[in-house]
Amino acid sequence: MRLSELKIGEKAIVVKVLGRGAFRKRIIEMGFVRGQEVVAELNAPLRDPIKFKIMDYEVSLRRSEANLIEVVTNEESQSVEPLVSHGTTADDYTPAHVAELKGKTINIALVGNPNCGKTSLFNVASGANEHVGNYSGVTVDAKAGHFDYKGYRINIFDLPGTYSLSTYTPEELYVRRYLNNEMPDVIVNVVVASNLERNLYLTTELIDMDHSLVIALNMYDELERSGAHLDYKLLGDMIGVPMVPTVSRTGKGIEELFDTVIEVYERRNKSVRHVHVNHGAVIEQGINELKEDLRNSKTALRFSPRYLALKMLEGDKEVYSMLAENDNFDAIKAHSEKLRAEIEDTLHEDIEQAVANEKYGFISGALQETMTQGKQDERNVTRVIDSLVTNRVVGIPIFILLMFLMFEATFVLGAYPMSWIEEGVAALSSWLHGIMPAGPLKDLLIDGILGGVGGVIVFLPNILILYLFISLMEDSGYMARAAFIMDKAMHKMGLHGKSFIPLVMGFGCNVPAIMATRTIESRSSRLITILINPFISCSARLPIYILYIGTFFPRHVGWAFLILYLSGILVAFLTAKLLRRFHFKEDETPFVMELPPYRIPTFKATCRHMWSKAEQYLRKMGGIILVASVAVWALSYYPRPDVEGELTPQQAAEQQAESYMGRLGRAISPIVEPLGFNWKVTIALISGTAAKELVVSTLGVLYAGGDEAPEALSEKLTQPDPVTGHSDFTPLVAASFLIFVSLYVPCIASITAVAKETGSWKWGAFSVVYNTFVAWLCAFMVFQIGSLFV
Ligand code: GDP
Ligand code: MG
Repeated sequence: MRLSELKIGEKAIVVKVLGRGAFRKRIIEMGFVRGQEVVAELNAPLRDPIKFKIMDYEVSLRRSEANLIEVVTNEESQSVEPLVSHGTTADDYTPAHVAELKGKTINIALVGNPNCGKTSLFNVASGANEHVGNYSGVTVDAKAGHFDYKGYRINIFDLPGTYSLSTYTPEELYVRRYLNNEMPDVIVNVVVASNLERNLYLTTELIDMDHSLVIALNMYDELERSGAHLDYKLLGDMIGVPMVPTVSRTGKGIEELFDTVIEVYERRNKSVRHVHVNHGAVIEQGINELKEDLRNSKTALRFSPRYLALKMLEGDKEVYSMLAENDNFDAIKAHSEKLRAEIEDTLHEDIEQAVANEKYGFISGALQETMTQGKQDERNVTRVIDSLVTNRVVGIPIFILLMFLMFEATFVLGAYPMSWIEEGVAALSSWLHGIMPAGPLKDLLIDGILGGVGGVIVFLPNILILYLFISLMEDSGYMARAAFIMDKAMHKMGLHGKSFIPLVMGFGCNVPAIMATRTIESRSSRLITILINPFISCSARLPIYILYIGTFFPRHVGWAFLILYLSGILVAFLTAKLLRRFHFKEDETPFVMELPPYRIPTFKATCRHMWSKAEQYLRKMGGIILVASVAVWALSYYPRPDVEGELTPQQAAEQQAESYMGRLGRAISPIVEPLGFNWKVTIALISGTAAKELVVSTLGVLYAGGDEAPEALSEKLTQPDPVTGHSDFTPLVAASFLIFVSLYVPCIASITAVAKETGSWKWGAFSVVYNTFVAWLCAFMVFQIGSLFV
């Protein structure tokens, strides 16, 4: 808890002093150091200042000051969970010990430009399986992780990438608010070693803010490879921030980095010093005048007055509203506006521009003395590849070719492991058939569980291959190019190149794809990108495609896939156009997109990515798919007819049609009959709204019946129905079904994501109604027009 919350007479032990610079120094000099006992002597609500006793003498602190001191009381120390696991028992939890442990907890925030390797660093440090993609803005939320290192508990936060800390984009605002509100103990500023000119810009802003900083000179391998030389020790001393070379992809330098973080946290590091980035005589004069005004403000406790002054001159709205808590705010504001006008008049330049120029001057001066450039061969490779893949003529064909290869490989390569798993499931099922006595339990195991879950698990290899391709495109840097070449086409739809990445991610899963739209600055573009995302076929729909295309269109696999995916994309784009035309009229922000250098994806990162997908898939298997399969089985197994022994195929089919499931399906069927679907298909479609894989597992259960040798679901689908005498599916019905499945209702997780990200259930409901309607219409056309010819 904070010292300000302590009640009169209550004792506590000091953990640490938050805040910065001069304030922190003064408080520490007063005796507020870790392990000291402090007693509240006078502390009534709203009474300021508060009187404390520490080291046998009395000090009074303002409430706002006491709020920056973290302490632990006896009571609190009893209820903490073990902070650092090794060597502590419950008896060890005295306040002093807990203060010691808490003092050994370091909160770290990772701050840096997009693509500088923050997430990779986060992953090697905390060992988490976070996804790393090589384009701007994969990280849209602060991700938290923790690990124990040399007796310290290190909490680490991965923040969104930003180029600066002004408040133009949501990311910038987010990071700044995070730093201001959470006050991490040490900020690790991740910079790309081979691109310091630009990366250090953010550093100069962090220096202005006067936080505890350590710089991770990441991608040091690339710097070395380019033949450049950097005296980072000298550079660190010059700017007052220790620098540690790292290669976060391999983990090299990470220990040194955290050693330095601990040194800085414990204030043992010799390089640490607060330097003033010089903004030129005119601006500095203005800063000094404003600093005087701010000297006694409440806000200056938490923020450096120099920083506040600079931001006021820049007209920063956030800083203005932070300062509004001060009594003399109006006077300060008037003063700063007057200074701003004077400065702009003197410089003939707007002040933000002037500040940025001076900052770049500071950086190039610092680099001049410490760095010798090598030849930049990597850029050239990048340029050569770029001239090809972003070429106006061949760029898009290359992209389409890659997409085609991706789906072709998914099917062709995936077919081998798929048939092994299929055989395994069939063998298991016939083995169970042989050893188990007839009865509901046997039927549940074979038809319900193996039929349902087994029907879906065979597609695991295909999904892994699809994810392999997507992650290779992301990690290599190709995805950013794809967005780039699609920019023009996207503009025709009223969207941005930036909207393209979430759309491609949608091939994997719509939920993270919808979340990835957070990087789109324009709200209307973002909403449209969210709403059209469910039309992009996610990997959960893949099993349905593979099953039906493999069964009914085995000779046109590649084309069938392409048509399905393209029709989804087409509907998405038409929807975007309609939404732009009728609902979201204007669009604001211009398009800016990074083209990061190409990088060869590492085997480890790719495997990690694929494994986390496999794990997700298997979890789904054991969870919702298992439960739903059993439920579908039970509802279609009961009520049982009064027949002795096993049912004949004819009786079994009649029983199923009369089951609870059959009745429900038949009640709804009239709506989908014009599309060529029977009641079994209807049921499968309904259960697919929980998760799209359930379409296949449900069909697996519903078509499991019959006692003949267990065969693959694909064969059962083409067999004639014992009641009607012809098979439920013709290639035409299959086509209509595929189109319907590719477009209809998003799964529950996607609907939730749509509602959450748009901030309204109205849009979630829109997705349900609109998508289903469109699906119905398209399937109707396919089936009715097709019927004229077949
Ligand atoms: P973020 O946007 O800052 O989170 O950056 P990521 O962690 O997503 O990394 C972007 C890309 O840089 C990925 O392709 C990483 O594999 C790659 N990368 C990260 N660290 C290094 C490094 O130290 N050396 C090299 N060569 N590549 C790296
Ligand atoms: Mg990231």
